[in-house]
Amino acid sequence: MSKYFVSKFDDLEPYVPGEQPQDMSYVKLNTNESPFDPPKEVVPVIRDAARNIRLYSDPESQELRQAIADYYGLEPENVMATNGSDEALNYAFMAFCDAEHPIVFPEITYGFYPVIANLNGIPYETISLKDDFTIDSREYENIGKNICIANPNAPTGIALPLEEIEQIVRTNPGNIIIIDEAYVDFGARSCVPLLYKYDNLLVTQTFSKSRSLAGGRLGFIMGAKDLIADLNTLRNASNPYNVNRMTAKAGIVTLRENTYFKNSCHAIQFNRRYTRTALEKLGFEVLPSSANFLFVRSDRIGGEELYLALKERGVLVRHFSDPKISDWNRVTIGTKVQMDIFLQKVEEIFKKQDEERAAEEAHKARRIR
Ligand SMILES: *Cc1c(COP(=O)(O)O)cnc(C)c1O
Repeated sequence: MSKYFVSKFDDLEPYVPGEQPQDMSYVKLNTNESPFDPPKEVVPVIRDAARNIRLYSDPESQELRQAIADYYGLEPENVMATNGSDEALNYAFMAFCDAEHPIVFPEITYGFYPVIANLNGIPYETISLKDDFTIDSREYENIGKNICIANPNAPTGIALPLEEIEQIVRTNPGNIIIIDEAYVDFGARSCVPLLYKYDNLLVTQTFSKSRSLAGGRLGFIMGAKDLIADLNTLRNASNPYNVNRMTAKAGIVTLRENTYFKNSCHAIQFNRRYTRTALEKLGFEVLPSSANFLFVRSDRIGGEELYLALKERGVLVRHFSDPKISDWNRVTIGTKVQMDIFLQKVEEIFKKQDEERAAEEAHKARRIR
């Protein structure tokens, strides 16, 4: 830390992203990107947009917002486009939370929420998950505080039924409820339809996971027009050209290529079921996921040990050091070929473990004799 860094950030702990090795020699199952390229139309459109790269992008992202609004049956004024949905979450925390308006989120969830709360000096409270890692929605009803919930939750992958989200929104009418739908396309129900009924709900989504544009950095937030206007005030006060012109065009094209999108979500669901069954056969405990990842643990091997052993064999998964989940690993669902490599490496690790144990036993037996 330099001597110039202002003291209010002394204790700020930044978010730690998953490893992004730049050599691509790993089977990369650690940051929930899509294993599939975006639709083939995307790269030409990006190239075309780059011809005008000397000009600023549209600060209102008008065409993109219209495309998103059309997709969801909303109006463009209900939508704000952002540089990844992390940016949308940051603006939402900033706009609607402060010392008098704290925010509540689950104890185990996306690690970015406490970081942006701290960044903005917002007090936060957490509510523990149930023993089965589900969110107890009743604990969020009538609490009179702002709430942020990832649905499906991360890193568990477990989704909350729409009815339970509606209860939370309905029973906290004086507060903002943010639902982070980064993974909703992989099998959960979106609460976008609730936006027609409630004006205290905000929904964020991203093009990073189900739409294969993680490197393009594109997200968006949807809600009542006056909420979106407040968010735009903050956006225009900090980064008015937040979505670049190449990415905006790429977003429009991926929304248009809906069959391609549906097919790739189905492929992920298929590979998820396949991987889950195989892991259960190997004795793993696997949480019921509605996302593009599985959260898994085994009695045979510690979470960190498995993570390291896989990394040594060229497979990257995500391990979290928080003691509440340090027995677990989060495994992104990739192509079937990638999942077969992952499964084969797990079997290899177990086999080596068996052999080492057998050798140890033999050694002990010899010593006793
Ligand atoms: C990946 C992710 C996001 C946002 O990612 P962006 O790339 O910034 O859009 C938001 N919430 C959760 C829970 C995520 O896992």
